Amino acid sequence: MKSYIAELHVHTCLSPCAEVEMIPPLIVQTALDQGINLIAITDHNTSANAEAVMRAAAGTALTVLLGMELQTIEEVHLLCLFDTLDQVRTWQSQVDLRMPALENDAEHFGDQFVVDETGDFVRRETRLLLASANIGLGDAVEAVHQLGGIAIPAHIDRKAYSLIQNLGLIPEGIAFDALEISRHITPEQARLKYPQLQKFPLIQNGDVHRLDEYLGKNLFRLESPTVAEIKLALQGRDGRSFRLRSTRVERVTTGA
Ligand SMILES: [Zn+2]
Ligand SMILES: [Zn+2]
Repeated sequence: MKSYIAELHVHTCLSPCAEVEMIPPLIVQTALDQGINLIAITDHNTSANAEAVMRAAAGTALTVLLGMELQTIEEVHLLCLFDTLDQVRTWQSQVDLRMPALENDAEHFGDQFVVDETGDFVRRETRLLLASANIGLGDAVEAVHQLGGIAIPAHIDRKAYSLIQNLGLIPEGIAFDALEISRHITPEQARLKYPQLQKFPLIQNGDVHRLDEYLGKNLFRLESPTVAEIKLALQGRDGRSFRLRSTRVERVTTGA
């Protein structure tokens, strides 16, 4: 069994709200510099830069999972993580069919750049990515699972685009693989503040939009760095394990 320090919520320069420094070589190098050896690329409603980051990490100690931060019809952000290009492309095509046909206003929201593994410009994404897809939370989780992925509601303690804020509860009957808390709360505070979290493992990510936002809080013990192994670890099964590291507690407040 090997240890993996994981950051499972990383944006690239394709997310309009992320800094332009979030290009594949810098995302990879910064993670390695911080001892992080497992990341997931999760741009808003798109996975178009994930493969480039995976290529940039080839031959290094870093594994890159291919993902997306879906915005559901409930305006809830959901991390959808996969191992293979086939899986994420199939998921992308399902999401694309349910996205509104709206253009991005780069002045207002920010630019959306698709880049290659060196960070060079490939194209500008002109569709509005910061929008809800016409897919419900329950259906999204089911579809992600059918493809072999895992689905984790993002930053549940945030005041916007979060499960608890938007729905007021954690809906019964949806098999979330874990719940994510933001950098602004500790797991202890989260469990106190939201007793309904008890049933789920809590992961914590930096929701990385800038290179200095990696947290490196998630510690997995896995045979190999795959989504299936992460799923086992979150369930504490077959010798795989997961816990949050207590290092680098920063800016802990109860605000959003
Ligand atoms: Zn989000
Ligand atoms: Zn995010």
